[in-house]
Amino acid sequence: MSYCARFGFDQPARDALLATMELREDDRILAQRLQRLVIAPNVESIVDTFYARMLKQAAFAAIMREAGVDLGKLKRTHIAYLLTLGVNFRTAEYFERRLRVGLTHAWAGVPLGLTQAGYRLIEQLLVQHIPADQIDPGSRDALIAFIIKIIALDFALTIESYHGAQVQTLEHSVQTLRRQGGRLYRQATIDLLTGTATRRHILRILKQALRHSQQSQTPLSVIMVDVDFFKDVNDRRGHTVGDQALRGIAARIRGAVRDRDRLGRYGGEEFLAVLPDTPSTIACEVAERMRERVAMSPIHCHGTNLKMTVSLGVAQSSGQEAAESLIERADGALYRAKKTGRNRAVLEQAGHYLPAQAKAGGVGAKSVPPMQLPGSSGRAAKHRHLS
Ligand code: GH3
Ligand code: MG
Ligand code: MG
Repeated sequence: MSYCARFGFDQPARDALLATMELREDDRILAQRLQRLVIAPNVESIVDTFYARMLKQAAFAAIMREAGVDLGKLKRTHIAYLLTLGVNFRTAEYFERRLRVGLTHAWAGVPLGLTQAGYRLIEQLLVQHIPADQIDPGSRDALIAFIIKIIALDFALTIESYHGAQVQTLEHSVQTLRRQGGRLYRQATIDLLTGTATRRHILRILKQALRHSQQSQTPLSVIMVDVDFFKDVNDRRGHTVGDQALRGIAARIRGAVRDRDRLGRYGGEEFLAVLPDTPSTIACEVAERMRERVAMSPIHCHGTNLKMTVSLGVAQSSGQEAAESLIERADGALYRAKKTGRNRAVLEQAGHYLPAQAKAGGVGAKSVPPMQLPGSSGRAAKHRHLS
């Protein structure tokens, strides 16, 4: 992309700036005179004097040193710059060359004040080199006025591109930071394997939801989910199959919750669901649905089908209860679900353990009968206290 396009200098914008500088079409003649009488015969000595004077400024000398600038090369560039000064100033090529100066200065970190000092010095040197014997006083004044205007144009273009480059660099940095921030945020909040929230994130979500439920006096429930006999999967099929099974289970559990419910990976093969605005009766239904979805059909992993089940513990928050205590109660219910046969959901309520199926109306139990513990009667009697 050309600099003119990048900084918005199409022909109308160029003409507008030239008009501001009071540079007119017939100033072409003065430009030719400037080149012929002033620049062409003196360009090398003007440039030599320019750098001799500028290098006396500590700030300029430091930049030259730090940027490792080759002075001879810089002088040649400057000579080329002077030999085109004012020549065809209305064209895109002219603006293009001048805009590049600002970019170079921005990249090199030259302060604008120093750039301005440079332009002033060039202006002075050009005026000093007007040959008094080859020009009448009236023409001399016109030439000086032209020098002032053409240098003002160059400085204006330098400022445009200088600031433009800085703004574009800043915009680029902001975009990069935003992208990096997004990536870091995802890394910190989303578990890579399962796509559910990380432990830290789900705990933060739970604490927020608890605060909200306490303020608005609405119920909040949690479900702790643990995969049954998961160690066996790893032991028999290997870790890769285990990982894939875990991903499949997470997807099924997630499919069982509503949009506003949140699911996180609480531990290795353990998940925590946070259900805002949900009483335990509904949470039991959700837990049953999760259990059912996992158990309903085998999970396909690396060409094998794995029959998987999960056990679940449900608890509803009460009063000003802390997150840790709520999780502990759900964990107690989960432990009870494990102890009483796995592939089941248990609700903790006021220190008692109840089968979630009974609370949820037993819908899930019909399609997938829970596994039996050896010696257990297997029929979870409605509202049977497990504690
Ligand atoms: P239980 O029914 O009592 O929960 O039995 P379990 O085998 O599921 O429980 P246990 O706590 O003995 O084993 C959990 C296993 O989960 C052990 C660990 O290697 C495995 N595990 C934890 N995180 C991951 C993981 O990210 N990938 C895989 N493949 N396995 C994991
Ligand atoms: Mg387990
Ligand atoms: Mg576990």
